[in-house]
Parts: sequence; structure tokens; C-alpha cells
Amino acid sequence: MRIDLLTLFPGMADGFLRESVVGKAIEKGVLNFQAHDIRKWTKDKHQRVDDTPFGGGPGMLMSCQPLFDAVGAVSTEGCEVIYLCPDGELLNQAIAQDLAAKPHLVLVSGHYEGVDERFRQKKVTREISIGDYVLTNGTLPACVLVDCVARHIPGVLGDGNSLTGDSFNGCLLSFPQFTRPAVYDGLEVPPVLLGGNHAAIEKWRKEQQLERTTRRRPDLLRKNDPKL
Ligand code: SAM
Repeated sequence: MRIDLLTLFPGMADGFLRESVVGKAIEKGVLNFQAHDIRKWTKDKHQRVDDTPFGGGPGMLMSCQPLFDAVGAVSTEGCEVIYLCPDGELLNQAIAQDLAAKPHLVLVSGHYEGVDERFRQKKVTREISIGDYVLTNGTLPACVLVDCVARHIPGVLGDGNSLTGDSFNGCLLSFPQFTRPAVYDGLEVPPVLLGGNHAAIEKWRKEQQLERTTRRRPDLLRKNDPKL
């Protein structure tokens, strides 16, 4: 899978590129990720990529020309061009899974007050938000999206089964987990997990998932069954 990130701050994505599971996926060639500086495409003699908004108001807007040219340069036939923005559809596991099946994503990070609306109308195929809050630019949201999508690409996680017990796989949160020692600071691991009875462990985990979801995120259960 190929992912290109267009941003004014490619360095912000650099650390992310090198580390952990995504870093290994890139190293192994399972994921081809590149961050590009949008400024590279500006035709302005002072290297500007922004201008004041028509109609007035605070701040600056990213202008059309560098964005149109940058997307034109890295796009391939049928690729998904995603603008990260607070007013996009809220990122969730289902969207991540859907995007992981695409061969090529172009992610666009905004800055200042955002981007000229004509860029969104003409070049963007999908708009995604990572939450109901506003960040200073879209590079971190893009990294969040890459990380979340990458987990669904075959070969990225050491054990693909890790996805099955994850929160939001279906409508449930994950179950509590414990590791050695069996007693720490007087705190004991639930005995069922030590007994080796796999059917009992499965049953306990399902019950825990249901209890935790009911207590913390009843909205997830209601989404699945509106009668609840
Ligand atoms: N004026 C814009 C608004 O209210 O919708 C916010 C602009 S924000 C300061 C600058 C950039 O950060 C946006 O263009 C977007 O790319 C990114 N951004 C900020 N918050 C985000 C979020 N929650 N999800 C995705 N991108 C976000």
C-alpha cells in the first residue's frame, strides 16, 4: 500500500515514520509512506502558500495553486485524496478498515485557518476528522490515520489476531488483560485466567467486554441494537 502525506511540516511525520510498528512496516516494504513539503510546489516567488481570506476575518488560508499542483504530482489513477479537517466524518475502526483496502491514499494536512474551499470541492475525495477538537495543523491527524489504517494491512501486525480482541471490533470494547506476576502488590489476577480452561476464559472475556461496554460506552451497544 502507498500513502503520500502533503504537509507544510514533513519533519513532524519523520519521527513517526521511523518508530514502532509503522516504522517496521515501512522498513519491510509492506507500507510505502512518504511525507512531502507542499511548499515545494508553490509558484510564488517568496515561497508563500497562503493568503488572506476574501470577505475578511482572522488568519490566513492555504491557497489553491500549491495544493492543486501537489495533489496533481503525487496522485495516481483512482487514489483516495483525503483532507484531514475538524468538519470531516469522524474516524473510526470501520473507516480505517475500508481505507486499508485501497492501494493508494493521498493525505492532505491543512494549516492556518484551513484551505481554500475550491480545493476541497475539486481535488478531495474524502474528508476525515480525528475528533471534535481543533489542532494547529493536520499532520498529527494524518499520522493518527496512517497508524490506525496500517494495523489493518496484512503483514503489519506481528499477529493478525491482535485485531480480533481490539476495542470497536464489532460493537464492544476490549476485555481487561494481565501479565506476570500473578500477584503484584497484593493485587491478584482473576483465577479463571490461570486455570488453562480456554472455553471458560473466552466466556469470561466476553462477559467483561459486555460489562465494560455497558458501563463506559452504552452508545456503542445502542448503535448495534437501537432497542437498547
Ligand atoms: N478553521 C478550521 C475549522 O474551524 O474547521 C480549523 C483549522 S485548523 C487550525 C488547521 C488545520 O488543522 C486544518 O486545516 C486541518 O487540516 C487540521 N485539523 C485541526 N483539527 C483537526 C481535527 N480534529 N481532525 C483533522 N484535522 C484537523
